[in-house]
Parts: sequence; structure tokens; C-alpha cells
Amino acid sequence: MQKLEQIYEGKAKKVYSTEDPNLVIVDYKDDATAFNGLKKGTIVGKGVINNQMTNRLMAKMEKAGIPTHFVEELSERETLVKRVEIVPLEVIIRNISAGSFAKHYGVEEGIVFDAPTIEFSYKNDDLGDPLINEYHALALKLASKEEIEQIKKYAFAVNDVLKAFWSECGVTIVDFKLEFGRTSDGTIVLADEISPDTCRLWDSKTHEKLDKDRFRRDMGGVEDAYSEIMRRLLRHDA
Ligand code: UDP
Repeated sequence: MQKLEQIYEGKAKKVYSTEDPNLVIVDYKDDATAFNGLKKGTIVGKGVINNQMTNRLMAKMEKAGIPTHFVEELSERETLVKRVEIVPLEVIIRNISAGSFAKHYGVEEGIVFDAPTIEFSYKNDDLGDPLINEYHALALKLASKEEIEQIKKYAFAVNDVLKAFWSECGVTIVDFKLEFGRTSDGTIVLADEISPDTCRLWDSKTHEKLDKDRFRRDMGGVEDAYSEIMRRLLRHDA
């Protein structure tokens, strides 16, 4: 399948049309942004890692009965996916306090929750992706009640798969962001990516950060962390 024309360019990926109206090609860039685009940089090799990691994790989701947009990996940075209409919600699952949760509620990072939490942000850069609840999402007609129920079920199921797999790799999944889309027949599928850009991943023993927080917080060792997390995935994903 060939790229026809670029139809979208986001912060970390470009999207191209193909001759099949129901399929598009995503092309992962090394560009990194944080704080709603205020901080910009490059993480060399990130596009390759995020593409390959996302695809392997998406395959695990399919195996667990969670439908995804994944079709076929085309190259190091390019993947063929189903064309979807993205539901404008960022769906965040947390197992441990960190990031904006710690900041909003005035708690330290690293508190292990008894049960995972879920929250939604309205995906809107101009508004800074404000936190909303399900009633707001319905009022704004971002998704139907049935779609929101389906999305919640899938999001917790994704967490179960990620927790189990990363634990085998000696990695704790602290929190992550998912996006869902509607295919041409209206089916809700998991879309976007699952990568160190969108997950907080800590070494289970040392709690060393192996994710984009190293970039956000100027901690150094960003490329090494992305390589290390990919190495661990490959070692355990035979
Ligand atoms: N996240 C993301 N994109 C966003 C916001 C958050 O992928 O626009 C991910 C982030 O990497 C983390 C989780 O969602 O794994 C929770 O992020 P949080 O709300 O703590 O926000 P942050 O502290 O990253 O601003």
C-alpha cells in the first residue's frame, strides 16, 4: 500500500491517505513536545521505537479481544491502520499517583492505588485539553452513552493487559493515555499509540523513569530510556 497525500500532521505523527478510503498510513516522527506544545525537541530514534512498540502492544490487545485500528506494519516508522474518526477524548488510566494527578490533588508521586482510576480530557489544544467528566462529554456530544461505556470497558481491559505484560519485563505501568476512534461502520476501536510518549513506565525495582518524563523534566538519558524499554519489550515478546 502506497502513501497518496498527507491528510494530517500532528505533534508526533503524520497521516497519509491511501487508495483504500478505509485505510491510512501513519508515519512516526522523532519530534517531541510537552506542555501542550510549549516545549519542543527531538528524541533520536523515537519514531521507530514508538511505531514498533505500539504495533506489538496493539497485537496483544487484539489477542485479548480489544479491537484496534492496527492493520499492518509497513516499515520501521510506517504502519497501515484503519481510517477512524477520533473520539475527541483523552482517556487516562492511572495505577499509581504521578504527573497532573499528584499536582492537582497535592499528593506525592508513587502512591499505589487500590484500584485503577479513569479520567477524560476534552481533546482540544486551544483549550489545553481540559479535564471533563462523562456528563460533560455527553453534553458536548463528543460520544454517546453507549460509546463511553464501551470505551471505559476497553480502557480497563487495556490496563490489565499492559500491567501483566510490563510486569514480566520488570516494568511498572504507572499511568497512560488512550485514544479511541470510530470506523466507517461506527465500531469503537483503540487507535493512536501506546508508547513511552503516552505511558509512564518505571523500572519495577529502582523506579527509574523509562518514558517521556525524562524529556518533560530535562532529566537526560532520554534516548537511552526509550532504547532500554524497547529492549525489554523485545526480550519478553517472543
Ligand atoms: N498523556 C499523554 N498525552 C497528553 C497528556 C497525558 O500521552 O496530552 C499521558 C502521560 O504520558 C501520562 C498519562 O497520560 O502517562 C497521564 O498524564 P498526566 O495527566 O499526569 O499529565 P502530565 O503530567 O503528563 O501533563
